[in-house]
Amino acid sequence: MKFFTCFFVLLITFPFLSFSQRNIDAIVDTVETPEGPAILYKNFTWEYLQDEPVMLSQEDDSTGLFTVQWVNDQIFAYRLKPDSIRDTVINLNNNGRIFTLPVYGKLFRGFMYTHKGLDIKLDKGDTIKAAFDGVVRYARYNRGGFGNLIILRHYNGLETYYAHLSKMLIKVNQVVKSGDPIALGGSTGRSRGPHLHFEVRYKDIPLDPLRMIDYDNQKLISNVLPVTKKVFYPNDYDVNAVIVKIKKGDTIGKLAKKYHTSVKEICAMNKIKPNTTLRIGRSIRVR
Ligand SMILES: [Zn+2]
Repeated sequence: MKFFTCFFVLLITFPFLSFSQRNIDAIVDTVETPEGPAILYKNFTWEYLQDEPVMLSQEDDSTGLFTVQWVNDQIFAYRLKPDSIRDTVINLNNNGRIFTLPVYGKLFRGFMYTHKGLDIKLDKGDTIKAAFDGVVRYARYNRGGFGNLIILRHYNGLETYYAHLSKMLIKVNQVVKSGDPIALGGSTGRSRGPHLHFEVRYKDIPLDPLRMIDYDNQKLISNVLPVTKKVFYPNDYDVNAVIVKIKKGDTIGKLAKKYHTSVKEICAMNKIKPNTTLRIGRSIRVR
């Protein structure tokens, strides 16, 4: 039985291997054919996207990572209280599995209270690649503003979100390798121009992707990512909260400047108005 499983895994991963070795930036489009979706390359070659999507069975998934809390029609799968999440260290590079920056472009919006991911500028049609090895949990149009949205769940326990896509190249429950093309970038949903909205979440809870990614070098900062109680901000699951004590002379404007954020952002995080008087000694969230 074990041998058969291994053989089967080899068999099904082989097409992905050859697929990822292509010049993946040279994809022009995908088209539906009677034989299934096909990918067109710039050099006028083409190939079928793949055979039937790989389905994971209970037997393949001893840890339950891809069967427990596995929902294909909701963007959040866990819906846990932050208190119930135990401290952990995520091994990002487990078993040597690599990381790929989904797309490289001008980073024009970072992780904030009102924005749970990174916005990366791109041209419509640019290839979006899978960050880590994993399985597609969600791949459909989302009315909440994400537009065409893909969510991958990874062997390291993280989920990555890819939004505003013009085209999705993969299907739900499909196995992907880090670096595999999963979509073409676009501007679907609530978006003012072509860009990738990229999120990293642990059990639904958003993390600042720049905690683990050395963006300009397009690699991981470290192979491990500690996720502890300290980084889970109880009010809103935010792992990146910076809370300071208000001192004499502080104004929302001054704090915004000091912490490289905006008055609007601080007001939203603390549910206060720009004209709210700050009380010395109280705590305020600035990031
Ligand atoms: Zn965004």
